[in-house]
Amino acid sequence: MHVIDLRSDTVTQPTRAMRAAMLEARVGDDVYGEDPTVNALQERLAAELGFDAGLFVPTGTQSNLLALLAHCERGDEYLVGMEAHTYKYEGGGAAVLGSIQPQPIVQATDGSLPLDSIAAAIKPVDPHFARTRLLALENTWHGRALPLDYLRSAHALARAHGLGMHLDGARLFNAALACQVPPREIARHFDTVSVCLSKGLGAPVGSVLVGSRALIDKARRWRKVCGGGWRQAGLLAAAALHALDHHVARLAEDHARAAMLAERLRGIGGIDLLGQHTNMVFIDVPAERLQALDAHLRTAGIRASIGYLPTLRLVTHLDIDDDGIERTAAAFARFFARD
Ligand SMILES: *Cc1c(COP(=O)(O)O)cnc(C)c1O
Repeated sequence: MHVIDLRSDTVTQPTRAMRAAMLEARVGDDVYGEDPTVNALQERLAAELGFDAGLFVPTGTQSNLLALLAHCERGDEYLVGMEAHTYKYEGGGAAVLGSIQPQPIVQATDGSLPLDSIAAAIKPVDPHFARTRLLALENTWHGRALPLDYLRSAHALARAHGLGMHLDGARLFNAALACQVPPREIARHFDTVSVCLSKGLGAPVGSVLVGSRALIDKARRWRKVCGGGWRQAGLLAAAALHALDHHVARLAEDHARAAMLAERLRGIGGIDLLGQHTNMVFIDVPAERLQALDAHLRTAGIRASIGYLPTLRLVTHLDIDDDGIERTAAAFARFFARD
């Protein structure tokens, strides 16, 4: 049975055309800076997002870590959302490996860090305190795109206090689509931006960190320190370039299918539809039925993210078609019809 895997947009299989692009890739030793395909990917994303330089890395986690290490030094701190990936889901890397203190900030329901909370968290220059150096935002956050005027205000506030700005833009292209602007209109508010190729864009592996030449040079050094200098990585960069050529515009299909799924689930008694944003649908079901629901879905060949977040998350992507949405909605309807 074909499994409909809605746990995350990370689960996509490389398409046949993507594999062909990988097979054809020209490669070289990237530690020497000689992999033409890696260089093309880095230059392309940097140019598209309005920066001098880019750095191709294996994961979004490493990309964010390298950004934090490039912006901050030992004893510095970064302001970050309490529920942000960069704070909560990256093993505390900045603190563990960089002696950089996170200052988590309780987020508003739309994922933004309230400006007054940011202002209140910025520490005076005083030996008692860590040195506040950086504001780190995430976009999309749980599928939500941060409003553009919020980004403008956050940028102005950060600059007024001499802070750098980093964006965890794992799903930057989804955010840009939701805001109907080119991605650089979001990226322009930041000094560094991390973009995942392995989420909705459908590459098997990889993220790119973009920024000024100076910041990316620092990040490159830290990547080596973290054991992340790689060699003929052009095989992977070729998949990423293929994704940028062929899988950006189609993100609109993922958003439309998520909306379609939300619409179908809305009408089912027992399901509380919490929201649908870009390619994600969040629902609540009675806690005592979660395990049975999980088992029911697995039997129907459907995987959902159950138990990882407080709510149930369904994510659309490259490998989910209209039929997958229909089958999923039908399986939910059957389960809740059993009462
Ligand atoms: C997936 C993700 C990351 C990290 O990416 P990995 O490649 O899994 O390390 C960072 N931030 C956000 C918001 C993500 O969704």
